[in-house]
Amino acid sequence: MNEATRVLLDESRIPRNWYNIVADLPVPPPPPLHPGTCRPVGPDDLAPLFPTELIGQEVGADRFVPIPPSVRDVYRLWRPTPLVRARRLERALDTPARIYYKYEGGSPSGSHKPNTAVPQTYYNAREGVRRLTTETGAGQWGSALAFACAQYGLECEIWMVRASYDQKPHRASLMRVYGATVHASPSPVTGAGRKVLEETPDSPGSLGIAISEAVEAAGAAQDTRYALGSVLNHVLLHQTVIGEEALEQLASLGETPDVIVGCTGGGSNFAGLAFPFLREKLAGRMDPVLRAVEPEACPSLTRGVYAYDFGDTAGLTPLLKMRTLGHGFVPDPIHAGGLRYHGMSPLLSHMYELGMFEAVAKGQTECFEAAVRFARTEGILPAPEPAHALAETVAEALRCREAGESKVLLTALCGHGHFDLGAYDRYLSGQMEDLALPRDRIDTALAELARLPGT
Ligand SMILES: *Cc1c(COP(=O)(O)O)cnc(C)c1O
Repeated sequence: MNEATRVLLDESRIPRNWYNIVADLPVPPPPPLHPGTCRPVGPDDLAPLFPTELIGQEVGADRFVPIPPSVRDVYRLWRPTPLVRARRLERALDTPARIYYKYEGGSPSGSHKPNTAVPQTYYNAREGVRRLTTETGAGQWGSALAFACAQYGLECEIWMVRASYDQKPHRASLMRVYGATVHASPSPVTGAGRKVLEETPDSPGSLGIAISEAVEAAGAAQDTRYALGSVLNHVLLHQTVIGEEALEQLASLGETPDVIVGCTGGGSNFAGLAFPFLREKLAGRMDPVLRAVEPEACPSLTRGVYAYDFGDTAGLTPLLKMRTLGHGFVPDPIHAGGLRYHGMSPLLSHMYELGMFEAVAKGQTECFEAAVRFARTEGILPAPEPAHALAETVAEALRCREAGESKVLLTALCGHGHFDLGAYDRYLSGQMEDLALPRDRIDTALAELARLPGT
């Protein structure tokens, strides 16, 4: 076995194709439904929101989708990303497990999000769109889209969830440096935002509310489309560059993973790392366990239901069959803002139903404990979202110690936490609480679901 610590690939190894796992599933995922007719949505329903090429990718079943040369050229700014063996963490845990992390925090905006922001912006620009609207939770997606819009000369207008806007004002500053316009959501500039503000003037906001605002704004202008940073099939597709590279990097060391761990908000970084390995698993070439980690404060996989629901709070999107806590659910303002989404990617939700991966939920203090341990050993400051994956990776490494097993663990370190130091301060000064969710709050949110068509 090769003993390298940091595995770097040459630029020429940036993948040439994205991998579409739908081609290899035993049963295709259920389609999105039009809320009025309860029929599957067609391309015409989506055309006001998304460019043709992305709609094709959303419903496509081709196994491989070529990455356009222009997109590969922007990827060259930070891809291929490093795969690193966390030897110092292993030593600190005294574990026989070998721990690897795939680090996406070295991208221009600091997370995996530019992997999809760049192609989404490219396809929109190619179809003559002049402005993109979007929501952002933790601010990672907003920064990524603002960066991509700067690359292709598009305007960018962003609704940032109020809780994150207040916790991390400098994320909004970064978006403005890239040239974007940023509103705290709920905002008075859309009907959806005004409605929430009337009922709850001090609302912390949620991704669902911010999506309603961005979708409304895109629908109101001819030259404007909407871009989503997670959840949808085309987003998961673009993120598979992570797993394709990791597959090659681990193979160059003569390693195959036993356990692959990623955090899940809408599911894109987990899917991006896991899907290429799952392809190999389905083909019988390896047999890793795949495990998603979500926050206890927003447990869509582990405590939600599998049902048709809206992707946003106001009910402007098609109905998506997914694991959901109900579109009216507003998660507590935990520090992992990127994991505060009421639903889960329909594709991952379908695969969860098929038993293709596992899920666990974690409280935030355990995650920050693992993140601080990681920072003190490996040096990188993780974002609060991948801290969830690190907490499970540490737990698995400790189980390996108990059992004397030298498993190979692979985790997605999908972003850095340089804008999250306020949260680290709270943790270090003992002010951080776990915000576990009482059953009655889930029941209340789910009660609304029973009134939806198709459920
Ligand atoms: C957006 C984001 C997430 C959550 O989104 P997924 O689609 O589940 O990946 C997690 N981590 C970071 C760093 C993010 O920016």
